[in-house]
Amino acid sequence: MASLPDNPDALYGDVIMDHYRRPRHRASLSYADVEAEEFNPFCGDRATLQLRLSHAAGHSPSIQDVSAHAEGCSIIQASASLLADNLRGRTVEQAADLSQLFRDLMQGKPLPPVALSELGDLGALEVVRQYPVRVKCALLPWVALEEGLRKLGRRGAAGG
Ligand code: ZN
Repeated sequence: MASLPDNPDALYGDVIMDHYRRPRHRASLSYADVEAEEFNPFCGDRATLQLRLSHAAGHSPSIQDVSAHAEGCSIIQASASLLADNLRGRTVEQAADLSQLFRDLMQGKPLPPVALSELGDLGALEVVRQYPVRVKCALLPWVALEEGLRKLGRRGAAGG
């Protein structure tokens, strides 16, 4: 039986609806090395991100724990949950690379197959490109991530 076109499940697909209904890593962290918040006054979406890093001597810091909390439409909530799910265990540089890849995907840049496999289930959000006003919603948690990483970079530079 064909789904009705106004059914959001049919529009966005299973991965997005699953993360929307059961968002992962939503609880805030008691301690965070990085915190950032982004707000889109146009649609009222808000994304709050916290990262806890682990520092091992001789290695660049990696992301030990993530909290991503989003308020707003189904897309920002799904995107925040997918982001959180995909950051754990990555180094700060790998997180920045993933963010750039995701941005390229959402902006319709052609990506090599290796990049698509790197994105994994984040690729499910590509469908949002069919609804251009929602692309901003999908990107907002990633804007928060980039802002958080910038703050971290500045702090690192200041601390030597
Ligand atoms: Zn939205």
